[in-house]
Amino acid sequence: MFRRAMLSTALLFVLPLAACGEGDAGKAAEATGGELNLYTARHYDADELLYRLFEQQTGVKVNRVDGNPDQLIARMRTEGANSPADVFVAADAGALWRAQNAGLLQPVTSPALAAAIPANLRDPEGHWFGLARRARIVAYDTARVRPEEVDTYEEIASLRFRGKLCVRSSDSVYNLSLVGALIEAWGPQKAGVWVRGVVANMARPPEGGDRDQIRAVGAGVCEIALTNSYYYIGLASGEDAGDRAVTGRVRLAFPSLDGQGAHVNVSGGGVARHAPNRDNAVRFLEFLATPEAQRIIAAANNEFTAANGVANPPPVDAYDDFTAHPMSVTAYGRRQAEAQTLMTAAGWR
Ligand code: FE
Repeated sequence: MFRRAMLSTALLFVLPLAACGEGDAGKAAEATGGELNLYTARHYDADELLYRLFEQQTGVKVNRVDGNPDQLIARMRTEGANSPADVFVAADAGALWRAQNAGLLQPVTSPALAAAIPANLRDPEGHWFGLARRARIVAYDTARVRPEEVDTYEEIASLRFRGKLCVRSSDSVYNLSLVGALIEAWGPQKAGVWVRGVVANMARPPEGGDRDQIRAVGAGVCEIALTNSYYYIGLASGEDAGDRAVTGRVRLAFPSLDGQGAHVNVSGGGVARHAPNRDNAVRFLEFLATPEAQRIIAAANNEFTAANGVANPPPVDAYDDFTAHPMSVTAYGRRQAEAQTLMTAAGWR
């Protein structure tokens, strides 16, 4: 955790620079140095490599503040116009939307980002940009489930899986975003039926994270689980022999939503509303969209790349042969309150 006192010092130092650089687009291309205060909900070792690369290329020192998205949002709210935050990074478009909805991000116009990141993976006004992709899909027990039984989202909530589904709680933004996507695709009526089906299908009350659901399939507690792709890929390619054994028996299926592909979400970032180092913040996001940075980001958390034309690194490349639904990820935040209402009403705790 970065210390508040150090940040204040950094803020005092960089504010005059930011004021001088304001509106001077030419400055953005120079290696002018300075600092960048990154508020991030990502904390992987490989991300440190990214920051060092950015520092090497630009001379801009990256100061990192860690926290979960809601902690970082609360902190930025409290700091208000004095917030030293330049860039906010979080997993899930629903979390990015929360920051945007709280008025904590500013629109950014960047030809580089617009060219690199597909339109459906970013806010159209540039408040945030998807920088890595993950699919929310199904892990299934190959001994008991045939892949064609889990190739649509409807099937997850069907009678076939009464009492046979493991899934985490409804306060996970991942689930909120998935239900938000279903509301967007199907309308609240059909999405509500699906949510009630999921609750009826639960093998146990929601507990733990996605990895726990996958392990529960492996242990025979349930036949299928909802999970983000990177958790499975991480278990399958990780150090733990037990988890690797689980993924020998439990496989990933990529259900299709209305025949258009699997539900895909992003982790990403945006420029903070009061960013004292706005130019550096934009440069940082542009850097994260470059092929070299994309491969590091994807590998760090076993996510898929987001930028156009950047191949997935191993081990993720072994799982990227699926169709992603083209829905704009902005729908997930827009539908978040509706999703929560449906899930609460159905007793998805
Ligand atoms: Fe996660």
